[in-house]
Amino acid sequence: MATKIALLNFKGGVGKTTTAVNLAKGFHSLGKSVLVIDADAQGNASRMMGFRQATDKSSNTLYEAMSGTAPIKTCIYIDQDNEDSFDYVPSRPDLYRCEQELVSRTGREYILRMLLDEIESMYDYIFIDCPPNNGLVAVNAMCASDYLLVPINCEVFALDGMGLISAKYEEVKKLVNPKLQILGYVMSRYDKRLTLHREAYQQMESLFPGKVFSTKIRTNIQLAESPAKRTNIFDFAPSSPGAADYQALTEEIISKIEK
Ligand code: ADP
Ligand code: MG
Repeated sequence: MATKIALLNFKGGVGKTTTAVNLAKGFHSLGKSVLVIDADAQGNASRMMGFRQATDKSSNTLYEAMSGTAPIKTCIYIDQDNEDSFDYVPSRPDLYRCEQELVSRTGREYILRMLLDEIESMYDYIFIDCPPNNGLVAVNAMCASDYLLVPINCEVFALDGMGLISAKYEEVKKLVNPKLQILGYVMSRYDKRLTLHREAYQQMESLFPGKVFSTKIRTNIQLAESPAKRTNIFDFAPSSPGAADYQALTEEIISKIEK
C-alpha cells in the first residue's frame, strides 16, 4: 500500500506545487514508484509534469475520476518512453466544478480516498498537490492521506494561517480520518541571512516541536524558472541549490517515514 502525502496550506504561493513535483522526482530517483495527484484546478503541477491542456483536451483528468465519469486508472499519465518520469493524474480548471458537485454527493469527503483504494497498490508513494483553500477537494485530499506536509513561505508572514490548518487537521482527524498525521512543516524561500526568516523558523519549532524539517528550501531562481520549462529542478538544474535542498528533504522524509 502506498504512503499518501498531501501538500497542504490554505494559502497560495507557499511552495505546495514546487514541493510536490520536486519531491516526487526526488523519491522516484531513489527507486520509489511515485504518483502525483494534481488536486488544484489551476493545474500548475500538471504543467510542470508535462501535461498540455490545449492538446490533451480530450484526455481524462482528476475531474472525470472525481465525478465518476471515468475510472481513475484511465486518468493516470504514464510516460512509457521515459524511464526517468513518474506517473501523474492531471487536472484542468473544470476541477473547480467539483467543489460544487461534491456538496450533494453521499460520502462527499471520501470520494478521492475510494479512488486511491483502486490504484494505491501500484505505488510506494502518492503525493497530492492541494488547492489553496479549505474546500471539499482539499478535505478529500486530507481524508485520502496518511500524512500532511505543510510548506511555509518565509517571505510572507510565516505563521499566518497556521491556526486554521491546525483546526482543520484536528477536525478531519476526529471526524473522517483518524490515522491522519502531520508529517511536518517545511520552510521555503528561506534566507538564513534574514533575521525574520531565522525567527520564523525558531517560532515554528517552538510551536511545533519535532515537526519542523531541519532541511530548509532556500530561495532559488532556478526553482522559480523550472515551471516555465515544464519540468522539475532535478532535470532543469541538477547542480542548483534548489536541487540540493529537495534532495536533502527527500532523504529527511524517507528516513522519517521508513525508519
Ligand atoms: P503553491 O503551490 O503553494 O501556490 P508554488 O509551489 O506554485 O506555490 O510556488 C509559488 C511560486 O514561487 C512559483 O512561481 C514557484 O516557482 C516559486 N517558488 C517556489 N519555491 C521557491 C523557492 N524556494 N525559490 C524561488 N522560487 C520559488
Ligand atoms: Mg500550487
